[in-house]
Amino acid sequence: MKRIFILFILFQTLWNFNSNAQSTPKTVIAVSGDGIHKILIKNGFDPIKYYNEFIRLNKKNIGKRNGLYIGKKYTLPAKKESDTETAAKNPKSLVNPLFGKKYENVPIEGSQLKGAIYYLISGHGGPDPGAVAKKNGNTLAEDEYAYDVTLRLARGLMAQGAEVYLIIKDENDGIRDQSILKVDYDEVNYPNQKIPRSQKLRLRQRTASVNKLFKQKGKAYQRLIVTHVDSRGQKENVDVFFYHHKSSKNGKKLADQLQTTFKKKYEQYQPNRKYTGTVSNRSNLYVIRNTLPPMVYIELGNLKNTSDQRRILNSGNRQALADWITEGLLADYKSSK
Ligand SMILES: [Zn+2]
Repeated sequence: MKRIFILFILFQTLWNFNSNAQSTPKTVIAVSGDGIHKILIKNGFDPIKYYNEFIRLNKKNIGKRNGLYIGKKYTLPAKKESDTETAAKNPKSLVNPLFGKKYENVPIEGSQLKGAIYYLISGHGGPDPGAVAKKNGNTLAEDEYAYDVTLRLARGLMAQGAEVYLIIKDENDGIRDQSILKVDYDEVNYPNQKIPRSQKLRLRQRTASVNKLFKQKGKAYQRLIVTHVDSRGQKENVDVFFYHHKSSKNGKKLADQLQTTFKKKYEQYQPNRKYTGTVSNRSNLYVIRNTLPPMVYIELGNLKNTSDQRRILNSGNRQALADWITEGLLADYKSSK
């Protein structure tokens, strides 16, 4: 009896080991009501993280608006190693309603950013939409796109155990997968302040919020990430680029690290296109000059340029931007310890 029991445990262990390694990809049959998100959640995947990979694996069987066909077989992604390892140790997740219904559940994937504190400012907001462009009769507003990337970034950082403060937030937007993000004016400033109309007061307000928190947190590793989507001439195609404060060594290091990560990602995903995003100091901008934590100011692209619009309007690309920024921030934190 005893021997059978031991054998059973051994067998089960081996089986678990194999299923984690996923040497043969698992497949599932789509049933009525299944979508990519639903099928990923049902099978224990973080839908936001594995969405693109699912599409890549099943390209042939994905319909209009990324719909699935009932009765068709779909391949599930292989879980990233970090997920399977930490899932066993730490199955916890947290909930943040700011991410919206679909994404409010944040599975904790690891603890690589434990101890790190991030302040995230998405550009403009409240009465100020920032840069504005037109696309097929729709209005594109900078603040909505910067905010969506910022939310995705916040989610990625929290999934690695970071403490994250969204300095600009909108209670009812959440992470949005549409390509046209509706323009609204109800963003507020942390913790819950109305954003003033005057640019000077607006920038002063967000700067004060960050600085107050920064002083409370003392000596912890603290970083500020500011996200904008520029507007330039329609023909000008710009890669993601970075500003830092002239005399901040840690700010420059952060910006350099992000640039390195983006360069690597471009080599991997767009090998025929050379990445030309720059790092420079721009201390004449109010937020750069007056905030206390080491910071990086990220320009995601030119809202008016058709090819930059692909980077910003596609939700999968917005997620990729957030993931790459997360990866760069991870590397910076690691190298600071
Ligand atoms: Zn801006």
